[in-house]
Amino acid sequence: MFTAHLINDPFDDPGVYIDLRHRREALLFDLGDIHNLPARKILKIRSIFVSHTHIDHFIGFDHFLRICLGRDQHVSLFGPPGFIAHVGSKLGAYTWNLVKNYTNDFVLHVTELHKRHKVIQRYHCQTAFTPETISEKEYYAGTALDRDDLTVNAAILDHGTPSLAYSLEEKQHINIMKNALNDLMLPVGPWLGELKKSIFRGDPDQTPIKIPRVKTNEKPFFTTLPLGMLKERIIKITPGMKLSYVADVIYSEDNAAKIIELAKSSDVMFIEAPFLHRDAERAQKKYHLTARQAGELARQAGAKHLVVFHFSPKYRGQELQLREEAMTAFNE
Ligand SMILES: [Zn+2]
Repeated sequence: MFTAHLINDPFDDPGVYIDLRHRREALLFDLGDIHNLPARKILKIRSIFVSHTHIDHFIGFDHFLRICLGRDQHVSLFGPPGFIAHVGSKLGAYTWNLVKNYTNDFVLHVTELHKRHKVIQRYHCQTAFTPETISEKEYYAGTALDRDDLTVNAAILDHGTPSLAYSLEEKQHINIMKNALNDLMLPVGPWLGELKKSIFRGDPDQTPIKIPRVKTNEKPFFTTLPLGMLKERIIKITPGMKLSYVADVIYSEDNAAKIIELAKSSDVMFIEAPFLHRDAERAQKKYHLTARQAGELARQAGAKHLVVFHFSPKYRGQELQLREEAMTAFNE
């Protein structure tokens, strides 16, 4: 389970902080001004997903670096084509002659996502952030991160420059109910790991699951029980949540189709709504969405909840109109 919140007021720099409570770590979508986050929350961040490097989405890099410097920290950053050069320029702006004396291991793993491949570069603090190429051209098909507990997918959108939208999907959580295990006099052991794998694979209910029984004499023996019965009696499955994050993007058919596909059935969808629809022409010129377009996209994606952000400062005092316009289109 995770919780998510906007880092700043919707008129200020965009960004969403995701707290993965079960892992005591956090993820970040976009790296604008993060001074609103206390250092302890910044230190929990293990992965940062940047949409693009316009200044309001990336100026937080320096503050992040400053907080993490001198600590044991491995952080992964993801971004669009050109991202590695931008990170390299940031790191290249400072003098690092004394960091070789540091005893800690602060490392940045930077992944640049292209349409069909990714490039990975690593920077160690102890080597003065000298870039190390880990992968020049690795195959990539839209999944930026794939772990036991979650996946993060990305779509490359058009914002005059490539801009990445992301979706975070938790995998279903399979809990073993210890009491039920005792009631059935089944032992704890590696077979439970195999059972979980079988559920993840989606094996049919009649699949036999081999269970070692407690040794009564020298010879261990096994019984088998059908997967379906075990699922019913000793397993509790909690479905994973899905969150999507769509920042700067122009409204076009192509972008809309990609956003709807990426954000499909999100439990919560964060999407930018900088302009009122009466200023649609201006929004188009600036490669941004209107609040109505944001609401429509969230409805078409079948999102359960909508959170709009990244309001243009020209609407200060008209925040309600922006929200209402988005919500009306969302609920239509
Ligand atoms: Zn932008």
